[in-house]
Amino acid sequence: MHRTTKKSDATDFFPAEIVYLRWAVSALGEWIRAWQTPQHANIKEKKPMKIARLAFCLNAALAAGTAFAADDLFTPSGNREQFIAPGEMLAKVAQDPSNERIELVRANANLISAKTRDLRLSLPGGLSINALQSRFETMASGNEVWIGELDAGVAKGLDTQGRQALDANENTIIAVRSGDTILANIRVNGALYRLVPVDKGQHALIEVDQSKFLPDEDAAAYAEMVRHAPPPRAMDRNWVESNAKAISTIRVMVAFGPAAASAIGNDQQTVDLAFTESNNALAATNTDIRFQQAGSIQYYTQSETNNYTTMLSRLTNGSDGFYDAIAGQRNTNTADIVAYVAPASSTLCGQAAGIATSNASAYYVMSPSCMTGNYTFVHEAGHVIGTRHDNDPTTTPYAYGHGYVITSVSRRTVMAVNNGPCPSCTRIGAFSSPNYTISGVAIGTANFNDNTRVLRTRGPTVAAFR
Ligand SMILES: [Zn+2]
Repeated sequence: MHRTTKKSDATDFFPAEIVYLRWAVSALGEWIRAWQTPQHANIKEKKPMKIARLAFCLNAALAAGTAFAADDLFTPSGNREQFIAPGEMLAKVAQDPSNERIELVRANANLISAKTRDLRLSLPGGLSINALQSRFETMASGNEVWIGELDAGVAKGLDTQGRQALDANENTIIAVRSGDTILANIRVNGALYRLVPVDKGQHALIEVDQSKFLPDEDAAAYAEMVRHAPPPRAMDRNWVESNAKAISTIRVMVAFGPAAASAIGNDQQTVDLAFTESNNALAATNTDIRFQQAGSIQYYTQSETNNYTTMLSRLTNGSDGFYDAIAGQRNTNTADIVAYVAPASSTLCGQAAGIATSNASAYYVMSPSCMTGNYTFVHEAGHVIGTRHDNDPTTTPYAYGHGYVITSVSRRTVMAVNNGPCPSCTRIGAFSSPNYTISGVAIGTANFNDNTRVLRTRGPTVAAFR
């Protein structure tokens, strides 16, 4: 076993200096937000941390007896200067209102290796937890991805009704290494932490307040998408239930405009994380779909807008002077779907050109900050393929094609929205299905909430677009 022990106690992890850093970055974030949006200067009292849940995890890790065996993926850096004069990337991280708490750490990128069996993650709030490698991949870009399952002592396997527990999927790390940097999403029983490269070789360790994520689409954007859904009769002819067991590979071409390229530090690293996170969500309930990157990232320098309806109209029109080269690039790269990373919107995370789109309209746009963490990348693709929100009353062509809110355990699936009935329910990386559970509760119903069945049914059609 790969094991180089570096013992340190969880209570030693946060010396006075780190407390100062937390305060300093919090003050910096508040100052930048207040400066940018004076109307929000009186920020309301923050919600208390989910202490009970974190304490449970910590106990579980300690009980398993492995909490202090592995190498630390990151350790506190204690560099005060960066908070006093923050670099460009740290300032951007501090500006994002969903970044609840930020610490500076030194990350050991050499540990993101096929040979690393387990890692220790020392998270904000004194939580120290081990991750055991479950998969290692080298992406087409050359970036390396280390996926681990956290030692959180949750339910696994089938229950007495033959339903698969997905709790382990909520206790994971996906870490993408590019050179000396690591971009990672860490999920612990519904809580989300991020490791993001910032300036001067340092990384920000972030505790995310997922309730501050923007809705996937606002009401106007969703109405526009519903307007572009094909009529029920047309769908009936095309949607033949598939019994095929083969995996449908859907190739997605990612396009960046100038705003996205400047908002994201390392575009390819972010895209690699988005694909890995999306494929994990698609695999969780056996949707029989996997995404594949269709060529390298395409860059555009044309003027853009954060009106996503306008962006989609320009993208799907091949002769209006906007992005007219994109259809040819889509053909060259045999891309079934095109995802455009647009300027950030203040009201929504993304928008698709329709629901169950035609081949010609298989496009979606999204805000750079929503690409990973909120599952927007796979949410919008889900619309293109044919899935609907939990609170969409449409029952044609298939009554079961909706996301699901699992209110009793405060969770929602990828196609269930925070502008629906439960804004505080955090999103799990899975599509609705009656055959899977979280905390013993089904994540869908056979009659109304089975997006997995929609994806299985229409996946082969979309995979054959190009
Ligand atoms: Zn949506």
